[in-house]
Amino acid sequence: MSAVVVAAAKEKFETQVPLVIIGAGAAGLCAALAAKEAGIDAVVVERDDIPSGSTALSAGLIPAAGTRFQHEKGIVDSPRVFAADIQRKAKDEADPVIVEVVAARAGPLIEWLADRYALPFDVVDNFNYPGHSAMRMHGLPSRTGRELIDRLRSAAEANDIVILAKNAAQRLFADSESRIRGVEVARRDGSCERIGCEAMILACNGFGGNPELVRRNIPEMAGALYFGHPGNQGDAVIWGDALGAQLSHLGAYQGHGSIATPHNILITWATIMQGGIQINGEGRRFCDETNGYSEQAAEVLRQPEAFAWTVFDARIAGVARQFDDFQKAESAGAILTANTIGELAGAMRVPATAFEAEWNDVENLKLADGQDRYGRNFAAEQACTPPFHAVKVTGALFHTQGGLAIDSKGRVRRKDGKSFPNLFAAGGAAVGVSGSTAAGYLSGNGLLTATVLGRLTGETAAAQIQR
Ligand SMILES: Cc1cc2nc3c(=O)[nH]c(=O)nc-3n(C[C@H](O)[C@H](O)[C@H](O)COP(=O)(O)OP(=O)(O)OC[C@H]3O[C@@H](n4cnc5c(N)ncnc54)[C@H](O)[C@@H]3O)c2cc1C
Repeated sequence: MSAVVVAAAKEKFETQVPLVIIGAGAAGLCAALAAKEAGIDAVVVERDDIPSGSTALSAGLIPAAGTRFQHEKGIVDSPRVFAADIQRKAKDEADPVIVEVVAARAGPLIEWLADRYALPFDVVDNFNYPGHSAMRMHGLPSRTGRELIDRLRSAAEANDIVILAKNAAQRLFADSESRIRGVEVARRDGSCERIGCEAMILACNGFGGNPELVRRNIPEMAGALYFGHPGNQGDAVIWGDALGAQLSHLGAYQGHGSIATPHNILITWATIMQGGIQINGEGRRFCDETNGYSEQAAEVLRQPEAFAWTVFDARIAGVARQFDDFQKAESAGAILTANTIGELAGAMRVPATAFEAEWNDVENLKLADGQDRYGRNFAAEQACTPPFHAVKVTGALFHTQGGLAIDSKGRVRRKDGKSFPNLFAAGGAAVGVSGSTAAGYLSGNGLLTATVLGRLTGETAAAQIQR
């Protein structure tokens, strides 16, 4: 079946609505809320029974600069500094127009969700993520994406937004002028419905759940554990490709180098940023872990037998425990504990001499505020004391960052550089702000573009429909 049907002027649709949004993750629900505020009722098409998406699997942390939550804690920050951080990590490969839009609109987005929809955000202030020059990660009390998506869904329901659950969008209809006319959705019983629309927002994330597209575009993660939502099959890029849309940075992705194995539980990178390290099965460190957790996925997968150990102490475990996942890892017995590094090495079954030498080197560097052979800087306040902990981890693909190129209003761009008149993309469906590789991913880029571009596309699509 072709992904896109060229629609005749008299194409028949069973239902006609102003706005169709495909995908009820953070992007789709923010878009629907924004459109509703502007007086436009959207229909949100969602394959799952209940919205979850990768949003539910995330820690729900959204970076934003200049918020009142930062001011209350005396954190000095600005959209300009935030934009510079994004581009520094992306090696200046991200579209500067989109970077400016997301950096400027992230603060207002957090305050919008807090004030209008009562999402109780606060700013994480007991550790910072790599590459952010200020504490700017905003999260909900449980620090889970499940809470974020549930609260967004409740807000959508309270505002009478129609979420067409258990319906998979399978084909788009477009006329010869690139105007989107509608979508065909398939229900679980095999029946189909054609819904016509005046505008469409693609909010169905990327292609992490499509092994063939991953193999073709991100060979270094082919066969790696995929930790995102399985329903993210790359429909946006498949439709976009068929429509003649510009696809950008398809090799970019968010990875993570600290997934407890075999338990498959995310171990927060706070374990590293607070002074922990990673060693391989030979008891040796292998890179500067603070470059970022995203590029660390491939680093860990390059180690013998494709695993590593994340090692830290009780103080760091105390910081990590604010995350539900860390508590789950503890309950699952994933985290080993010992009073000496030698004892820990025994429990981990790694060569004690090599591990102890690495550990002592690092602890000495901390005391001297020194730098290691990989360029990692250490500080005295990161010193570790017994008891020590270790967790066996592997690298995973979280979500893809490549996707449909968009303009400053979130309209999808065609290959000729013009924008589609009524097709928008947000979140993982659109190209992110991470440049062309995993190393360009700055923590939070995923939900940043999902929420901010979701809201922006909802506003723009609604304004266009009203004209
Ligand atoms: C483990 C993990 C941790 C993460 N932690 C963070 C974090 O703390 N901060 C951060 O910024 N980012 C994080 N991310 C990334 C972040 O989760 C994503 O970037 C973000 O959730 C994307 O939102 P979205 O709305 O674009 O997609 P999703 O939330 O994945 O929603 C897409 C929806 O589209 C639906 N869908 C797909 N195709 C169709 C179709 N054809 N028809 C109907 N429905 C369809 C899916 O079922 C899904 O519900 C994390 C990701 C993972 C996997």
